[in-house]
Amino acid sequence: MPVPRRRHSKSKRDKARTHKLLQAHSPSRCKNCGAARRPHQACPSCGQYNGRSYRTTVTS
Ligand SMILES: [Zn+2]
Repeated sequence: MPVPRRRHSKSKRDKARTHKLLQAHSPSRCKNCGAARRPHQACPSCGQYNGRSYRTTVTS
């Protein structure tokens, strides 16, 4: 595989990322309640992740 000769500057790197980050990450569905959920994160609706509940009770 070819190897880049020179490292990109911070400016080049960040300019390239502006295009990459324009698209939102593909949402996934909660297995429990079917609500839209971000990948690798507990469901905001029911608090379930991988069949377990991670809902924390707010104590303040
Ligand atoms: Zn859920």
